[in-house]
Amino acid sequence: FAPWDDPTQKPFIEFRNVTKRFGDFVAVEHLNLKIYEREFFALLGPSGCGKTTLMRMLAGFEDPTEGDVFLDGKPLKGVPPYRRPANMMFQSYALFPHMTVEQNIAFGLKQDGMPKPEIEKRVEEVLTLVKLTQFAKRKPHQLSGGQRQRVALARSVAKRPKVLLLDEPLGALDKKLREETQFELIDLQMELGMTFLIVTHDQEEAMTVADRIAVMNKGEIIQIAPPALIYEQPATRYVAEFIGDVNIFAGSLVSCDGQNTRIAVSDPELTIDAGAPTEAVTGSEVAFAVRPEKVRISLDPPADPSINALQGEVWDIGYLGDQSSYHVRLSNGRNVRATIVNSRRMVERPITWEDHVWLSWDHDAGVVLTR
Ligand code: ATP
Repeated sequence: FAPWDDPTQKPFIEFRNVTKRFGDFVAVEHLNLKIYEREFFALLGPSGCGKTTLMRMLAGFEDPTEGDVFLDGKPLKGVPPYRRPANMMFQSYALFPHMTVEQNIAFGLKQDGMPKPEIEKRVEEVLTLVKLTQFAKRKPHQLSGGQRQRVALARSVAKRPKVLLLDEPLGALDKKLREETQFELIDLQMELGMTFLIVTHDQEEAMTVADRIAVMNKGEIIQIAPPALIYEQPATRYVAEFIGDVNIFAGSLVSCDGQNTRIAVSDPELTIDAGAPTEAVTGSEVAFAVRPEKVRISLDPPADPSINALQGEVWDIGYLGDQSSYHVRLSNGRNVRATIVNSRRMVERPITWEDHVWLSWDHDAGVVLTR
């Protein structure tokens, strides 16, 4: 399933050169985006970057100042929200407090004039989907936060919209429930065969649920790619730093021969060989980004201590159960992070505070960033 790699595939949702201004303020600028049918797509970015505005333009609650949004090849300009085959589930999934779960779900269907037997069938179906059949007669205040969230979800898919828009849908749930519900969302999306568009500022959430992620900043999309590519091949320094932990070394490009890229870093003094070629020209400013879990930490020097290797002192160790996060301080005062999987018991930890250690990594462990 990778329709975005197939140029013959037509996008299901398309933002074409869309700009949205609120007065003088530009919330979204000249934005282009294609989303494919049955895709689970995430808009990810910090607060205020324009994610919700983008989603509201698709739902019809906002009009683009310039450009247009297309659904199934048709422009949405002038189509009112209730005529759009997109349903939005809001951050605060307000349920009607005086109605039972099944009445809450049936409400929208009744308003659409659906015959009663069909409504009953549809309500039963979606309750089964979200595993809430036994709670059908309860009112919202008799449910947990997670169950209320699932009622809201059932309500938004009951009309079988072509697109479900989820605006921070799991924001109110605690970490464990949130993680469980993320997998339920994936299952639900696959069972329904619908296109899901989720807005989140939580990178782990986006990585877990989405087929592809658009990383946004200040009204622009910086990179669109599947989660593993966003993490392993970030297009810019911003993306590398926004997603997960990363060590970044700024330096200048010494040489690039199509197979290897050599970078000289002056502070700390370090020579980096980064396998892949880059488009940057010799002498230009570049950065090298390497994730903490790709950095090895050892008491003995690596085979070639002149390349991709640094020395420092263990400054902090964060124990996370399954892994430990090491902060190693270099002679210039800077910290480099290395993560170790705790396959041994912590009491047997071979490397500890104040140890003088070597940090090293493989040639293909990181990426060269030119922006
Ligand atoms: P959050 O995660 O905090 O919801 P977001 O990325 O979804 O953030 P948007 O809600 O899309 O951000 O807002 C983008 C920018 O547009 C913000 O700076 C916001 O203040 C501004 N904005 C949004 N709606 C309006 C409006 N109706 N009038 C004026 N400015 C607005």
